[in-house]
Amino acid sequence: MNEGPLDFIREIVKGDLRAGRHRSVVTRFPPEPNGYLHIGHAKSICLNFGIAAEFGGRCHLRFDDTNPTKEEQEYIDAIEADVRWLGFDWGEHLYHASDYFARLYDWAIHLIEAGKAYVDDLSADEIRHYRGTLTTPGRNSPWRERSVEENLELFARMRNGDFTDGARVLRAKIDMASGNINLRDPVMYRILHARHPRTGDAWCLYPTYDYAHGQSDAIEGITHSICTLEFEDHRPLYDWFIENLPVPSRPRQYEFARLNLSHTVLSKRFLLRLVSEGHVRGWDDPRMPTLSGIRRRGFPAEAIRQFAERIGVARRESTVDYAMLEHCVRDALNKTVERRMAVLRPLKVVLTNYPEGQLEEFDALNNPEDPTAGTRKVPFSRELWIEREDFMEDPPRKFYRLSPGREVRLRYAYLMTCREVVKDTKGEIVELRCDYDAATRGGSAPDGRSPKATLHWVSAAHAVPAEVRLYDHLFTRPDPGAERDLLDDLSAKSEEVLGDCKLEPSLASLPAGAGVQFERLGYFCVDRDSRPGRPAFNRTVGLRDTWARLQKKA
Ligand code: ATP
Ligand code: MG
Repeated sequence: MNEGPLDFIREIVKGDLRAGRHRSVVTRFPPEPNGYLHIGHAKSICLNFGIAAEFGGRCHLRFDDTNPTKEEQEYIDAIEADVRWLGFDWGEHLYHASDYFARLYDWAIHLIEAGKAYVDDLSADEIRHYRGTLTTPGRNSPWRERSVEENLELFARMRNGDFTDGARVLRAKIDMASGNINLRDPVMYRILHARHPRTGDAWCLYPTYDYAHGQSDAIEGITHSICTLEFEDHRPLYDWFIENLPVPSRPRQYEFARLNLSHTVLSKRFLLRLVSEGHVRGWDDPRMPTLSGIRRRGFPAEAIRQFAERIGVARRESTVDYAMLEHCVRDALNKTVERRMAVLRPLKVVLTNYPEGQLEEFDALNNPEDPTAGTRKVPFSRELWIEREDFMEDPPRKFYRLSPGREVRLRYAYLMTCREVVKDTKGEIVELRCDYDAATRGGSAPDGRSPKATLHWVSAAHAVPAEVRLYDHLFTRPDPGAERDLLDDLSAKSEEVLGDCKLEPSLASLPAGAGVQFERLGYFCVDRDSRPGRPAFNRTVGLRDTWARLQKKA
């Protein structure tokens, strides 16, 4: 269990166990399979599975599959894979709201028999109209006082398929004047002649989320039904169902503030739009805040769990700075991934005094943070690639890297000095002619001189050609959509594809998903678009930690 004070939900769980109100804690993560999970869901997953693990209970994975028109098997599979990837296991406790359709139907009849539910013939528009507003009470439907017998018969015919979609609904009979709109005779069942991914054509009417959710919790013996704050106003309704139905247990709902992340939109509906309108290349586009997107981007699951722990759980709404998430990613990667050399925007260097055809190999550290990671051989020869931005012909003050007449260190290799700049007919620099100091093998000079800059490089003869994608925020502003349509805040610069990158040979054939640090450039991860002889890498995150800097300032 994590050290330090517990959040308010863990305090409640601890208190309930201590007081003997429950023998063990049972939580659940209840996604609707209408899209891919995002990092907001990760907060909920870490909370529910985390509490179960810490207090020796269990956590169910339950699909709230009550809306067959929006739900798909693809989403179900992706959700399971994502929860597993995050490091959690529901064991045998995989459930679906659709498992309970028969029982929910029987309980609806129970409410009708008790005079607490009725079949309404009003259309969806009329129902909305009758519902009233936050400031004005609603009006009773003309069908509200139907007899129990008539309701039973109509409900049976709804089940039977006698009516078209939307022709009738079943509503709970609560209070059309309630100050809480959720209690103004909410819809429990709607007619939907739609094939369900699990129950097929067995049903042509489906329970609403509001009717299915609490009863599903009760059936599964959920002790602490944890959800986000927008469901706080639904709690009286959930409690009303529980009180009026012969359910086997009584779950208690606790609400916490959802995760909001700067520069990011966490809404399945909007993410679906990004995918279906082609603003991104799919649910797992590395710019997406989906778990499959950030996984493809190279964020390790460990970093997401750390992030969830750091942001904590509270009832007050807030927005977390994206830089904090990146900080957690760097933290996790720094300890584990190996360093390599790669040149993203190559500029040719010819070492004019280095013998033609000579080849040397230098031992390079795999991870300075981890001595057990060992070393590897990096080939060195007369022609090298360096980073274009490491050279300036006419450098301003404070540019310490390579420029004419200046000496720099080539990482692990030699000191070298630039002697000549070669340009093409358009004046574009195409090559630097340099000489190296053979007495500085390994990077230190016998006379003790030490250049300010150390450059990474790749031997041209040994370089592996690669594609590298650099990613930035999907949105231009920290609060997308605050002033205009969300799509107008999409950044045109969220992805830059570099097609002419040069990698050291050891990077030739890593498996998709493998993470690595390119020295001086950031953390990268092998993309599944890699082809033999031409790997593709995604930049996971840069090296500069803006979060740490912000913290220092504060
Ligand atoms: P979205 O708002 O993205 O459409 P949702 O709430 O409709 O998501 P569900 O499948 O119902 O998606 O969510 C499953 C669980 O995840 C719910 O318990 C919900 O409260 C929680 N959840 C959803 N978004 C967040 C978030 N941003 N932060 C924390 N928990 C969240
Ligand atoms: Mg929801």
